[in-house]
Amino acid sequence: MKKIIIIRYGEIGLKGKNRSYFEKALIRNLKSQIPGAKVYNKKKRFLIDIPEEFISEAMEIVSRTFGVQNYSLGVQTNFEISEIEKVARELVSMEVNTGKRTFKVETRRANKRFPMTSQELNAYLGEKILDAFPELKVDVHTPDFKIGVEVRNEGVLVFGDKIPGPGGLPVGVSGSALLLLSGGIDSPVAGWYALKRGITLHAIHFASPPYTGEKAFEKVLDLAKALTKYNGGRDMLLYRVHFTKLQLAIHRNVRESLSLVIQRRAMMRIATKIAKEHGYKAIVTGENLGQVASQTIENLHTIGSATDILVLRPLTGFDKIETIQIAKKIETFEISIQPYEDCCTVFVPQQPATKARIVDVEIEESKLDLAPLLDETMKMVEIYKLRQGKVIEIEKPGMDKTNS
Ligand code: ATP
Ligand code: MG
Repeated sequence: MKKIIIIRYGEIGLKGKNRSYFEKALIRNLKSQIPGAKVYNKKKRFLIDIPEEFISEAMEIVSRTFGVQNYSLGVQTNFEISEIEKVARELVSMEVNTGKRTFKVETRRANKRFPMTSQELNAYLGEKILDAFPELKVDVHTPDFKIGVEVRNEGVLVFGDKIPGPGGLPVGVSGSALLLLSGGIDSPVAGWYALKRGITLHAIHFASPPYTGEKAFEKVLDLAKALTKYNGGRDMLLYRVHFTKLQLAIHRNVRESLSLVIQRRAMMRIATKIAKEHGYKAIVTGENLGQVASQTIENLHTIGSATDILVLRPLTGFDKIETIQIAKKIETFEISIQPYEDCCTVFVPQQPATKARIVDVEIEESKLDLAPLLDETMKMVEIYKLRQGKVIEIEKPGMDKTNS
């Protein structure tokens, strides 16, 4: 019995011309993550055909592919009623194994030459299922699961319960952006939300060796790898910036209370240079409102004014508890709570200003020779290319690319 996966992608953003653009991106993302998959586009849903042994792995991939509204396991059969019944029983047994106890059969009959009406087929299969599984009951209003049957011209499609997908838009339909990725809890979650809206995401991390160690960077690399589970199998670049010299210059030359905001502005400036060089259209941060001293409205404004490209802050409306829930769901939480120093915690001032004004910050920044410091920092950027949870290439300044 050859199983397939049926994917429904909802209707958001699918009207008119957008539709095929959206469909193509989703098909591409599915195929690149499920090697050997054949994807058939059948009116607002896809049928995925893959060898039996990869089915459960493929279901797992589908469950985290943005753009998928819901999905189910199904089988295509011929018009033989005994065949339809056999398939239905097998799908039911899988649902029963997960503890479900009430069901409903839902038939749609597009092919009117089929000898039974939808109602007749519902009743017939319902009865056969009850015979085979005495522990089950029919519930037409709120069943634990449904068995779907579609009688079409080319055959009959029988499928199990609809499993909710992650929703959102397929990665790749919304342009690209650069995520400021710290080792904390928030920024990976912010990145996940950017991916959810179809953004192709790359990441930048500021490290301050020797104040921050290799372990701290490995943790960031692990977070980036975790995010590639949600990026539709696309490549993600992680830019590692050596921030120590710039950070020390800030630390030594500016008023301590403003140093945190000035550090963040320096990050924005470097992120902006990289974004412009590579055509990324926005910067994404894990900043929140009111969570820490640097995140007042005034400070966010002063930090944001160091760049002239769009800054997206998907977590602005989140409580920390909500962010943690998502971090656990997307499996970044356990990585984030590993205890390695972040570059900013090393240089956090005793009493950071909570209302840093742009004029004051600019006066402090004029005490630094910022432009050459930024240029020098830019020359030291390392680039890690990641694909589906693995580093596939590393580019370091002055060295040939290495493939892993
Ligand atoms: P996070 O949990 O993401 O670290 P946070 O609540 O701890 O966030 P901050 O540490 O003030 O808040 O950082 C705010 C945002 O600034 C982060 O979410 C991230 O986007 C960015 N950021 C901070 N430190 C770094 C870093 N070393 N490299 C890259 N981005 C950083
Ligand atoms: Mg942090």
